[in-house]
Amino acid sequence: MTIALQGICASRGIAIGRVHIVDRGQLNVSEYRLAAGDVETEVERFLHAVEKARDELRATRERIPRDTSADIAAFIDTHLLMLEDSALTKAPVELVRSRRCNAEWALKLQCDALVSVFEEMDDPYLRTRKDDVEHVVARIQRTLLRQDKPYHEKPDSVIAGHVVLADDLTPADTVLLLHHGIAGFVTEYGGPTSHTAILGRSLRIPAVVGLHQARLYIKDEDLIIIDGRAGVVLVDPDERTVSHYRASQRTIEEHHALRARLGGAPTRTLDGRDIVLQANIELPEDVEAVTQVSADGVGLYRTEFLFMNREETPDEEEQFEAYAKVVEALNGAPVTIRTLDLGGDKSVDSGQSAAHWSYNPALGLRAVRLCLKDPNLFRPQLRAILRASGQGPVRLLIPMLSNLQELSQILQLLKEVRRALKRDGLKFDRKMPVGAMVEVPAAALCADLLAERLDFLSIGTNDLIQYTIATDRVDDEVNYLYDPLHPAVLRLIEMTIKAGAKLAVPVSMCGEMAGNARYTRLLLGMGLREFSVPPNALLEIKQVINNSDTPRLARLANKLLAVADEPDRAAVLEKMNALHGPSDPG
Ligand code: PEP
Ligand code: MG
Repeated sequence: MTIALQGICASRGIAIGRVHIVDRGQLNVSEYRLAAGDVETEVERFLHAVEKARDELRATRERIPRDTSADIAAFIDTHLLMLEDSALTKAPVELVRSRRCNAEWALKLQCDALVSVFEEMDDPYLRTRKDDVEHVVARIQRTLLRQDKPYHEKPDSVIAGHVVLADDLTPADTVLLLHHGIAGFVTEYGGPTSHTAILGRSLRIPAVVGLHQARLYIKDEDLIIIDGRAGVVLVDPDERTVSHYRASQRTIEEHHALRARLGGAPTRTLDGRDIVLQANIELPEDVEAVTQVSADGVGLYRTEFLFMNREETPDEEEQFEAYAKVVEALNGAPVTIRTLDLGGDKSVDSGQSAAHWSYNPALGLRAVRLCLKDPNLFRPQLRAILRASGQGPVRLLIPMLSNLQELSQILQLLKEVRRALKRDGLKFDRKMPVGAMVEVPAAALCADLLAERLDFLSIGTNDLIQYTIATDRVDDEVNYLYDPLHPAVLRLIEMTIKAGAKLAVPVSMCGEMAGNARYTRLLLGMGLREFSVPPNALLEIKQVINNSDTPRLARLANKLLAVADEPDRAAVLEKMNALHGPSDPG
């Protein structure tokens, strides 16, 4: 029977393999008193153990493959440095002399004292550094206690492909095990910021840590699956589960290969057109995924997620910090920060959402309407976004804009906020571009008027489709009507792209349609030149773009827009998607 054990995700990816248990036994340290004449011999014994620990670590360091990143060797260097530190070398010697106790006991007392200092620390990263002290001390203790047998007795060739299970692993153990070709590791202790977890991530080895008492459920040579994405370990999986995870493993590998091939390459069509390919994010933490795929910036930052699942509204300072963090991580690439889009299917758990009850929440007081009604909510966000623009390129994006009156109100408010920031002596970009989502039919139909007044437009197909076809995007019962290829939807998209092109106002698309590779060529054919997509879809979209010829697609897109029947439109789309460019491997 398969059992699933939940631990902490340390390093993403999937590993499937037989278990190799690393168990070096408990270190049982007790105190004994020394005769006065034995004290210096004991000191010698301790110093010898410290020297042996250094030799072992240096030997491990030598075995790190040359092509591994420098920070991996740095973990071992940290332990080597600790072995030079008087807190671990001199203090125990003094204890042996003053207490006339054995070296193991002296080292244990000193270790306990150091660990308690780390445990007091507020910073979770620094708190985890107590692991390093414990790892270094355990290495010395093993020599003192004569428990320094190698951490595995199986030949190295047998360990290859195994998944290691241990109570804890030091970074040095991990380096050696990886050298032997292990497929992943699971530890009973440790957190996501331990050096061992960091090592797993930087070497891309799937790992789960903090799986308490794992050795009660998992035996040597059991077959297990590590799902590093979810922090889950499946013990004794059935065949169907194994083949499901093998398929996921292949997808992940394909993605890595794609990233290696396309990551730094420009996004350019076969006929030489540069396309802007940006990413959508919900939280500042998502930027890592954005930089990993080398996106041209963030095309949509959904700030409402900062407001969800909490009692109080984040104040200006908290918002500024969150936005600035993203701007900084993007390192000069633009960040499009969308103002609060709450309401509809996105509600907060605080009193705010409960305060407004509506028959049709999607048509009610949501997004920019809510913000304009409540300047106490809107003003701090505008200030925070403007302040973030002082840290790097930022664009402000307004959701759910449905009339020009709203736009004038926002532009006026922005003027006031800029004036106030200037008065307060705060830095911001006076020329920060301001754009609007085109996600209600009224905005698409008036795209020319919006383009006259704004710096850019971004088509939000998720809502645009819902409002155009009057089909609730979250209601399963009517989902069959939700169709990106509906002629009305395509006409509104085309209208928006054309309005932007006429005035040289950039038009992007950030709805899910942009992130679905099925529609990429159609959108290129319709003239779209900027896409913002979920980070995990970006490389696939880039691959399609780089293998597309826009003049050819433009002809087919015109044809598709001219046909009314759904099967005929789908047939033209399939034809577009079947076109092969010269660099397409087939
Ligand atoms: C959209 O409506 O297409 C969009 C991108 O916004 P959201 O999905 O956040 O409503
Ligand atoms: Mg929307």
